Amino acid sequence: MSAVWHPFFQHATEPAPPRATGSEGAYIQTDRGPLLDAISSWWVVTHGHNQPEIVEAIRETAGTLDQVIFAGLTHAPAEELAEALVAMAPAGLKHVFYSDSGSTAVEVALKMALGYWRHEGDGRHRIAVIEDSYHGDTIGTMSMGERGVFNAAYDPLMFAVDRLPFPSGDGAGTLAAFEALAASGRMAALILEPLVLGAGGMRMYAPSVLAGLRAICDRHDVLMIADEVMTGWGRTGRLWACDQAGVAPDILCTSKGLTGGVMPLAATLATARIFEAHRSVDRRRTFYHSSSYTANPIACAAALAQVRLWRASPMQARLEALGAMQAERLAALAGDTRFTNPRRCGTIAALDLVVPEGGYLSEVGPRMRAHVMAKGVLLRPLGNTVYVLPPYGVTGADLDLAWGAVASFEV
Ligand SMILES: *Cc1c(COP(=O)(O)O)cnc(C)c1O
Repeated sequence: MSAVWHPFFQHATEPAPPRATGSEGAYIQTDRGPLLDAISSWWVVTHGHNQPEIVEAIRETAGTLDQVIFAGLTHAPAEELAEALVAMAPAGLKHVFYSDSGSTAVEVALKMALGYWRHEGDGRHRIAVIEDSYHGDTIGTMSMGERGVFNAAYDPLMFAVDRLPFPSGDGAGTLAAFEALAASGRMAALILEPLVLGAGGMRMYAPSVLAGLRAICDRHDVLMIADEVMTGWGRTGRLWACDQAGVAPDILCTSKGLTGGVMPLAATLATARIFEAHRSVDRRRTFYHSSSYTANPIACAAALAQVRLWRASPMQARLEALGAMQAERLAALAGDTRFTNPRRCGTIAALDLVVPEGGYLSEVGPRMRAHVMAKGVLLRPLGNTVYVLPPYGVTGADLDLAWGAVASFEV
């Protein structure tokens, strides 16, 4: 038996996993044959696995600069990347704080928001969230995410938040609920996944709702934190999901696609207002947060190469073409009574299997996963929700393979 304890893996029931031996483009080579990576290795791969430009940047940087302390030192990869991120981010985000995963990027955002209000001499500390959200697996991020089977054991450690109903349709109920909360004067921040709730089941809502929530934040001086860890770097059809609503958050979290899916790295971007509240001759206002591998130069170089790819290639056209290919395949399943609720946001396409028992523990998920894997496709249904979230380099034939595997499943 292996010594490895795998994540989100039930060692009592699941067969030993295939062994990955290589990765290239949209495929992972394994000891059991190639697998089409139809979920971008849990949403991190953007252009494709082993993108030569990114690999080369890593090689080059590793030859000259490895991890160096980032408190009181700086380096070119981090400086250049921060400049690029500020230039590409929604307006007003001027400062870049590095960490190493989506969860830590969100924890940093939360601490920035609370620190901001404390330094402003305002006691606000309540956090508003949207139900069914996911922001990570640390205690703080779990507190803000949906409670359920994943985290019931840790409930005693979690802090209370104010939950808004998921914004279906025009989101009127969500907006009204948030207006009432925000008017209380106790809300420090609203944190949300813009347009698509990923782990919550690829639930999608309209850009107008995002704009409406921003307007309420403005009216009542509530900070908006956009968790773009999954939605960033083109996943929803634009660089940032916020771009689709013309919304600029006060704080933005990015990770997953930041290095194209090659190295772990995260960044939390903040406005000047939040930065300035921490900049003071009073040393108590210092932002006391760091992780050992903050701004790892090799990871920053990988991210810079990813940014260069983004700028050099006609990404918008590529994303639109991929979105259209996904739409065609969803449409082909439209009349199929085994599926319901087909939906798409940019490159992400999802539908739900019609089953008597839904929910995350629905046994249909593992069965679907095994079924498509036997056909050379890697998918991980979320309960009875099946989604395809591919690297941008996939071909139509790759998508046919993925959706064909889904369509051949017997519920
Ligand atoms: C994956 C994810 C996170 C957590 O990122 P990790 O790198 O796994 O810690 C946070 N927020 C969202 C929206 C995510 O999809």
